[in-house]
This record gives sequence, structure tokens and C-alpha cells, in this order.
Amino acid sequence: MEPLKYLAGYPQHMQARVRELIEQDRLGTILADKYGQSHAVRSDSQLYDYVQALKDEHLRRAVPLGKVVYDSKLQVMKHALGTHTAISRVQGGRLKASREIRIATVFRDAPAAFLKMIAVHELAHLKETEHNKSFYQLCTHMEPDYHQMEFDLRLYLTHLDAGQR
Ligand SMILES: [Zn+2]
Repeated sequence: MEPLKYLAGYPQHMQARVRELIEQDRLGTILADKYGQSHAVRSDSQLYDYVQALKDEHLRRAVPLGKVVYDSKLQVMKHALGTHTAISRVQGGRLKASREIRIATVFRDAPAAFLKMIAVHELAHLKETEHNKSFYQLCTHMEPDYHQMEFDLRLYLTHLDAGQR
């Protein structure tokens, strides 16, 4: 059987259950019931404001944001779920870190919860490069349901994938 790429690493019985839901055409409905709320963050400047507001609320003292953009070329799973680049430049003799956040375009049309989840993920990388314990502590500090949302995002991407075949 073809592996479910967004759920690789999860137990077989769980993947089997998800396949069942796909075959019964129920996965989309389950997700829509739970994550019916969409968002209005359409443009890159709206995305910047959205991420900045989250940062102001939770990570005020982290390094300033650089560019924040939707990226249609980004493969969601390539870097876990988003990407973050630390670009260091020497400015006026001092090293200034600028942080660029790119969010895959799939999130533009995704439920509001998933955009928040990915924004939280990328913001946590302002302070932690690795996906380690303190990274996930930052994520759950910003969004207590982070882990559930990340799992459900995997289901959502699996659902989109199944619809494209
Ligand atoms: Zn990451």
C-alpha cells in the first residue's frame, strides 16, 4: 500500500484508520466540522501583520521579523511544515539577524487554525532552530492546542492529497 506521506512515522493502525475515512469519503467532513472557520489573511502584507500580531502577543522580545510571505513553491513537508531562514548581515559593523518567514500558499485557503499553527511554528523558530523540547514548549505557550492542530494539519494535507488523485 502506498504510504500516507504526511503521516509517515505514525502507527500503522492509525494510518489504516485514516485510509478508511478517505475511502468512506468522510475525512473532509470531519475536518470541516472541526475546523470550519476560515481566515481572511490573503496578501503578504496581511500575512506580515498577522504574524507580527502573534509575535507582539507572545514573543515580544525575540529578534524582529524580516520578510513574511506566502510561497507557492514551498513544499509543506520539506522543512517539517514551513521554512525559516536566518540571514545574518553585517550592518554598521554590528551583526544583525533578520528573520524571513515563508509560509506555503496552501495555508492561504486552509482553515484559520492551521494558519495559526504554522505561524506559531515559524515564530518559535525565532528562538529555537531545532525541533527540540523547548521549541515545542514555545509552540504550546503560543497555542495550547498546538500538537493536536499539527496532527490535524497532517490529516488535512492528506485529505487534499487524496482529492488530487
Ligand atoms: Zn520547523
